[in-house]
Amino acid sequence: MKAIVVREFGPPEVMQVEDVELVGPTGTQVLVKIEAAGVNPVDTYLRTGIHAHAPNLPYTPGKDAAGVVEKVGDGVTRVAVGDRVYTAGSISGTYAEYSICDESHLARLPDNVSFEEGAGVWTPYATSYRALFQKAEVNAGETVLIHGASGGVGLAAVQWAKNAGLRAIGTASSEEGKQAALDNGADAVFDHTDEDHFSAIHDYTDRKGVDVIIEMLANVNLERDFECLSMFGRIVVVGNRGSVEFTPRQAMTKDATIYGMSLFNAGKEKLDAAHKAIGFGLSQGFLKPPVGRSFPLAEAAASHHEIINSKANGKIVLIP
Ligand code: NAP
Repeated sequence: MKAIVVREFGPPEVMQVEDVELVGPTGTQVLVKIEAAGVNPVDTYLRTGIHAHAPNLPYTPGKDAAGVVEKVGDGVTRVAVGDRVYTAGSISGTYAEYSICDESHLARLPDNVSFEEGAGVWTPYATSYRALFQKAEVNAGETVLIHGASGGVGLAAVQWAKNAGLRAIGTASSEEGKQAALDNGADAVFDHTDEDHFSAIHDYTDRKGVDVIIEMLANVNLERDFECLSMFGRIVVVGNRGSVEFTPRQAMTKDATIYGMSLFNAGKEKLDAAHKAIGFGLSQGFLKPPVGRSFPLAEAAASHHEIINSKANGKIVLIP
């Protein structure tokens, strides 16, 4: 089968298509025929080799995908051949025609969700679920600022927030991204490249501030987030790509809480809760993964350039 193989860490071009032979599935392993694979920023960090969870070389990237169960090991009880599934992890990688996963990596993909949409389920929806519900512990009626609402995690957060009865404010920097946030349910949208957007958001909340900030670029925004955070507000650091000079007094004065989170750290109980909520939301239709752009598998390098360098507008997926 064809798969992307990374033989050395480096730029997107280290990802090349090769013929690969998969061994298995055995025990609780499952062979999944991949119909679409999700591209996430973390895939690009792992590819450079500097991430704490960098894989051993050579490897096939990707843990998010959607497809059909092709073959199961003799210990598998949770899925059967022919099931439509989304993946939340993979043993052999998902940028490929087939992937070996443990059955614990798999969840059913409801019939009303396409494979391309399914490829954008796990990382965006589990991350935003964990940020909103397991970290900030949002309550209906609160106001949440999704600081970076046009990307995979941000649009998922908007959908969760609206279904949970929150007032959702999003930010984006392109017209398409702003429109996507509104189309997915945001009550208002601001441009995070506008120096004054913090005060504009504060004004929008009648100068009370937002209760919660889901922060996609903390190294740029953390210091100024306090300009639009309410008293006793909570900030969840989801995305960060550098350092920031920070004045801790701001957290003190507002009695604020700053949470960090990484999906890598979520234990089984939290992950199971996320899967359950996601399955319900997908089948009910209030979660609808927004596919922004799809690339053929052979253009994986272009998809990595796109996710890092272009304005976001939904999920990027690879089609084997
Ligand atoms: P994505 O699809 O590439 O979207 C990136 C988002 O960041 C876009 O909405 C983009 O908006 C926004 N952004 C750009 N500049 C910004 C600024 N100055 N202020 C606020 N937002 C800004 O990526 P994603 O999948 O949504 O992931 C978002 C971030 O979360 C990434 O850094 C990713 O690595 C991280 N992440 C963390 C976890 C975790 O477990 N902690 C899990 C998943 C993702 P425009 O393009 O419209 O400017």
